[in-house]
Amino acid sequence: MDLKSFSKYTRPDREKRALIDSALPKVELKKFMMKGLDVAEECLCEIAYEEKPAKICPKCGKKYPADENFCFACGVALNDLRHADIKTLDVKHEFSFDGSAVLSDFEEIFTTENLILINDFDFTRRDFNKILKDIRITALKSIDDAIKQNAVDLDSLSCLEKVLLFTKAFVDVKYKSYGQELGYYSFNTIIVDDRQLDALQITTMLHELTHFLIKEMLVHIMCRLLDASKTREMESIITFILTYSKENCLIDEYAAHTVEGRFTLFGYQDYSSFLNIQKEIDLPEDEIEMLKTIGNTLAHMIKTIIESFITDQMLSDIKTQFRSDILDRPDYTQLRHENCILLTYEGFFQVIQCILVEGFAFASENVEKLKEINEMW
Ligand SMILES: [Zn+2]
Ligand SMILES: [Zn+2]
Repeated sequence: MDLKSFSKYTRPDREKRALIDSALPKVELKKFMMKGLDVAEECLCEIAYEEKPAKICPKCGKKYPADENFCFACGVALNDLRHADIKTLDVKHEFSFDGSAVLSDFEEIFTTENLILINDFDFTRRDFNKILKDIRITALKSIDDAIKQNAVDLDSLSCLEKVLLFTKAFVDVKYKSYGQELGYYSFNTIIVDDRQLDALQITTMLHELTHFLIKEMLVHIMCRLLDASKTREMESIITFILTYSKENCLIDEYAAHTVEGRFTLFGYQDYSSFLNIQKEIDLPEDEIEMLKTIGNTLAHMIKTIIESFITDQMLSDIKTQFRSDILDRPDYTQLRHENCILLTYEGFFQVIQCILVEGFAFASENVEKLKEINEMW
């Protein structure tokens, strides 16, 4: 990847710059403008707060006061809202992509024609927005269904439980109570250490969720380019691409770090995740910076999915949770590691093209490794 060639496609990330600047002298909370609520509103009507609702329609999700027993619109009896145990709650999550071909054999995938299709990169901003929107709506519908089926009283949930419910609309969440790591992402599962403080579990989940979303987004882009349905093999190829080079690992890690940072108080962020990878890359500083710019841009795109659920109020609740949980003094020295540059869409698509073309070619020479990955889902 010729990283220098992308520098002409950059622009300042003013929003992030302003957030960091505002944090530097003293931690001061800002109200953020939320984007991406257009789609959320149509799916999350039942999440809208009404006056002391006590019941919910299992069909349409509309909430009712305690003295109502029946949803006349749906012709069904109402259920009492309850404080559900989100840890054990089943939330369906399946993200599909339908194309003309179903490629479930690596030999079928690694053809010259397919390499040409990826190289041609016939992909528009409209295609990209549709992919983000599809992922977002699928998740919101899953949350919607889980709330209706289980009569979940969203108002009774803690901040951590709400974030957990949201995360479970994308991936399986499992718990561990060993080791130093706060959590990790692996094959559509997030593992969280539940001995940790609520605030740290929240930011860990959003960090690991970003790893999932980058994988998912790239799978959809590749399926769109090849006009193929999403299969396990496609997922395995993208998983391989995201891990085979240190550069790609750094991009992925910096993006996860950035999304996490959006929901953490500045001065309390952990930089080790990407600094450890950065140490192992032998590139000039400006090229490392470009990798971070790519990561920052990915984070910027992913944020639109996450912000469709994490509203202003929730963001403020997460930060309050942070203040009550974390007693250490903030450390602002690390903020110098932050990259505040974004790629334009043109530059972003060129980077994705580059990552996919190089990764696809390299993956085609490592089919044995891909078969190993394929067994691990
Ligand atoms: Zn109803
Ligand atoms: Zn990570």
